[in-house]
Amino acid sequence: MNIELSRIVDALPALIWTVLPDGRAEFVNCRWREYTGVSTALGDEWRAAIHPDDRKRLDETDWSLDIDAEVGEHEARLRRSDGQYRWFLLRISRLLDDAGRVGQLCVIACDADERGKQEGLAGPDGRLRRFVEGLPTQMIFLTPAGELEYVNREVLDYYGKSLEELKDWATSDVIHREDLPREFARLQRTLAYGEPYDSHNRMRRGDGVYRWFRSRMLPSRDAHGNIVRYCSVQTDVHELKQAETLLTGEVQLLEMVARGRPLTQILDALCRLVEKLADQCVCSVVLVDTDGSDLRVGVDPEPPSSEFTSKSSMPILSSRDEVLGFLSIHYRKGASCLSGERELIDRFAKIAGISIERAQADAALRASETALKRAHMQLIEAQRISQTGSFTWDVHADEHIWSDEIYRIFNFEPGMPVNLPMIQAAIHPEDMPAIEAVIGRAAEGSDFDVVFRIRTSTGAIKHAHVAGHRSDQFAGRLVFVGALRDITERKIADEALHKARSELTQLARVMSLGALTASIAHEVNQPLAGIMTNASTCLSMLAADPPNVEGARITTQRTLRDGNRASAVIKQLRALFARKQPAMHAVDLNDAAREVLTLLASELHRGRVRLRTSLDGGLPLLRGDRVQLQQVILNLIVNAIDAMREVDDRPRDLLVATSLVEGNAVSMSVSDSGVGLGIEHPEKLFDAFYTTKAHGMGVGLSISRSIVESHQGRIWASDNQQHGATFTFTIPRELPREHN
Ligand code: ADP
Repeated sequence: MNIELSRIVDALPALIWTVLPDGRAEFVNCRWREYTGVSTALGDEWRAAIHPDDRKRLDETDWSLDIDAEVGEHEARLRRSDGQYRWFLLRISRLLDDAGRVGQLCVIACDADERGKQEGLAGPDGRLRRFVEGLPTQMIFLTPAGELEYVNREVLDYYGKSLEELKDWATSDVIHREDLPREFARLQRTLAYGEPYDSHNRMRRGDGVYRWFRSRMLPSRDAHGNIVRYCSVQTDVHELKQAETLLTGEVQLLEMVARGRPLTQILDALCRLVEKLADQCVCSVVLVDTDGSDLRVGVDPEPPSSEFTSKSSMPILSSRDEVLGFLSIHYRKGASCLSGERELIDRFAKIAGISIERAQADAALRASETALKRAHMQLIEAQRISQTGSFTWDVHADEHIWSDEIYRIFNFEPGMPVNLPMIQAAIHPEDMPAIEAVIGRAAEGSDFDVVFRIRTSTGAIKHAHVAGHRSDQFAGRLVFVGALRDITERKIADEALHKARSELTQLARVMSLGALTASIAHEVNQPLAGIMTNASTCLSMLAADPPNVEGARITTQRTLRDGNRASAVIKQLRALFARKQPAMHAVDLNDAAREVLTLLASELHRGRVRLRTSLDGGLPLLRGDRVQLQQVILNLIVNAIDAMREVDDRPRDLLVATSLVEGNAVSMSVSDSGVGLGIEHPEKLFDAFYTTKAHGMGVGLSISRSIVESHQGRIWASDNQQHGATFTFTIPRELPREHN
């Protein structure tokens, strides 16, 4: 080796030595001697400068001079003159002799710590740095103050930025803006307390795409426990994270569908999920109206602006392949549908389809439920208002299904199970036989309709009207269905009305008696006053001097005439009350009827009777007793009103008609739409004391008949074709001669 070369070798910033095939050093450069403080390291002694742990590895190196043998690089600590070890990178190369054979090996050791410093990595030593560089994962080192100190190539390649540019991470877009605040806060905590941390963030790749990374940050400490740097390992977990987001998102969406959340809420969540999974886009759903004619925007939170360019759209199909809507995705400028995203969109269009169909089914169900509920409410309301309840009764199973209203009528706890003994106990014992008979007939198939009394637990008596029939819906089982109505109030009202009516007729009679008394008084008073006057005139005439006998005679005759007149009045009255021959006058039957109807006007109104008259204008007068005939008319009309009191399902029609029969008799008929006669031999009605009314006397018709007969007439009753009865009487127009 000539001088020049040896100078150069000494000047190189490296420790250099050569090793012979037997492992002994033949040459060490000046820097080697300076560093190790060993003046002569020839022979075997150079090994002593190498850290014992590293020496072993070095010994395993093939020091053979085989030209093809692997040599290469080693890292080893070399002892400095002060006894400290520093890391060196040892590069071993072969030195060839003139013949081209390997003569010895040359070792060049560079200070790795020093080189690291030059490259801006003050922390990790060269060996570590080299290790870090070789790792297929992102490694980031921070100073204890949190400043970016060193990143490996993976980092630089991913972000496409220099270390200097990356140092601004907290204010740039390298971490997704949604993740940045959290990440920043986390780092601050770690710096303050030295805690390790583990986080997931989206990191911006050089091409602008954000991918999910897992960052694990660990402090590294020196021998005294002081933190010398932080080391963060960042692993790409994008696919994993996507799969996880997709899975949880899908589960959440399906849960929302299952829970029947509002469609807009579900579709909104779906769009947000798509946006999360396919970055750089805005997702929206447009619904097609159910009849397929109209497009309706379902969810469109951020109407795409001009910064969105490309768009992909996917039809949302129903299970029957009808188009329910569209799922569209607008991509931000530069971004477009990535591979795999298509599949994703397809998947979400399916979920959207499920949720739309579910929402439609729900809406239909809700609508029918509402309609059903409304109908049910109406039924309950109608039952409450009409005080009518409905029931079914399975006779053999003794099962009763009652509507609320029946529970109320029976005064039973609503919904409590009911059985026959309970019902029987509530029915008035006197009404039991009638009910049993009716049920017996109903079992054979006929309808039942009966009024009975209920004795409630409070002892109150209620009147109930039950109607129904045997249902043929339950093959082979005896089941009755029917309705039960509380008619207590009506019964009470009826009774009150009946009482009022009898009081009214009584009053009418009393009134006619009063009128009669007045007329008697009037008729009798006049002749009496005459008699008194005449008697006193007669007395004074006889007392005159001379007595005026002629005047007294005439006056006495007048007295007699007046006395006769009074006696005639009394006779006439006796004839009336003795129902002897009536006082016959010309009577206009139409007029007589009108008077009676006027008298009964308020009674007719109270009974809600629709009155029609058909009075024959050409009716001749008849000879008869007007007052008595009016009594007959009054009787027939009052009976007709009575007969219609129970009628609620049809108009209460009353027809009063007069006519000329066969030219020689005058006829009057009173026709009603009441309950009808309900009797086989209607002539019985005319018997004295025959009555079907609780407070009836049963004399009205018998008196009527005697009055009509005393007029040589005839009276009879018959049932109408449809409803009610007609009472008719005829009176001969010309009375037979002997009565004249
Ligand atoms: P009362 O009215 O006091 O019962 P009436 O002699 O006037 O006495 O009537 C006898 C009976 O005839 C009544 O109780 C009733 O049963 C029957 N009756 C009378 N008029 C009618 C009518 N228009 N329709 C049905 N039944 C009637």
